[in-house]
Amino acid sequence: MLFDTHCHLNVDAFEEDVEATIQRAKEAGVERFAVVGFDAPTNKKSIALSTQYPEIYSIIGWHPTEAGTYTPAVQESLLSLLTNEKVVAMGEMGLDYHWNTAPPAVQEKIFRIQIQIAKDLQLPISIHMRDAIEDTYRILREEDVSEIGGIMHSYSGDVAYMEKFLDLGMHISLSGVVTFKKASEVHEVAKAVPLDRLLIETDSPYLAPVPYRGKRNEPAYVRYVAERVAELRGMDINEIAQITTQNANQLFRLEDR
Ligand SMILES: [Zn+2]
Repeated sequence: MLFDTHCHLNVDAFEEDVEATIQRAKEAGVERFAVVGFDAPTNKKSIALSTQYPEIYSIIGWHPTEAGTYTPAVQESLLSLLTNEKVVAMGEMGLDYHWNTAPPAVQEKIFRIQIQIAKDLQLPISIHMRDAIEDTYRILREEDVSEIGGIMHSYSGDVAYMEKFLDLGMHISLSGVVTFKKASEVHEVAKAVPLDRLLIETDSPYLAPVPYRGKRNEPAYVRYVAERVAELRGMDINEIAQITTQNANQLFRLEDR
């Protein structure tokens, strides 16, 4: 059994065939999905999907590229969605200095506000980080997130930073990037990450793994991520599938559900 801990079945790319996409994923052994919101429509859609499908869970939050549009009304709506029983984490949140659609200071403020909300609600956090590893680490450390923990989503930093995020109680989630030939830093991370902190994801429809690179990604392809991680560690794919699913169930507190 596989758990895709970060996918966006809530975006237009899946509007036409979400049902068939879920079916294909199940045939590939994916039994649970965390559908992650990043703005108002995708948060709403995530809840709609998790309400409709027992195997879908919701992660609700405000993306750093949207930080400039975070208002009191947005916060009200987030707080209301976060009370839904299918919500397992808060995110994605973080810093994105690649697109820089909001000034870093604004991104930092909205990031910290969301961490505080997650702590109030005792929810783990899902972190988006692009070209901003030092500031992301600093904020997570200053906010002392270890009591809630969370996920470094599609982690693409090096092993040294990985150790620092692990020290803060974070999990490391690997995406299709690990299947890319030149992603040597991510390969090193895949070999080094402690098994009890490892998660896998697709970030679909983005970041399709080899052999689908450049195409639309979908949760069924999380199998290719598991396969590559298993290969890099000299393990069996079923072992990786079982361990990462167990880690996700534990982090999301789904063991008893
Ligand atoms: Zn994402």
